[in-house]
Amino acid sequence: MRVGVAVRGIYYTHAIAGHPKCGRLHGHAGRVELSVDGPLQSNGMVEDFGELKHVLRQMTEPLDHRTLVPDAEIHPEGRRWVWKNADGERVLLEHDPYILGVTVVTAENLAQWVLGNLISSMPPSIRSATVRFYETDDSYAEATWQR
Ligand SMILES: [Zn+2]
Repeated sequence: MRVGVAVRGIYYTHAIAGHPKCGRLHGHAGRVELSVDGPLQSNGMVEDFGELKHVLRQMTEPLDHRTLVPDAEIHPEGRRWVWKNADGERVLLEHDPYILGVTVVTAENLAQWVLGNLISSMPPSIRSATVRFYETDDSYAEATWQR
């Protein structure tokens, strides 16, 4: 049986170098859904919703109210960051960026990133997990893991 939870209101900015529209710095109100598949247990649950939400919130909290930047595009310079890519250079304040080990910050890579960080927290009874990362209300990327 499959159960799922969602975390809404992940507010972030990003820019996709070389993209005619998304190359400009812009923001999203993202949403992440996590669903897991496993056997119905004697307590009548596959997994406690509260526990799933707690784990998902922990993974997504660092992304909230941040500028998400690929690690290869940013470096520290004193108490600020210089974010440099094919489109040019931006300066970010010390607390602005969250640096991700991805080549480009897309919904696809964010879904993979969240899922990759969740896998170690999956209870043994869970057979598969799917993360959907909504960049907007009607656009998402989905990543799935199977034990
Ligand atoms: Zn975007």
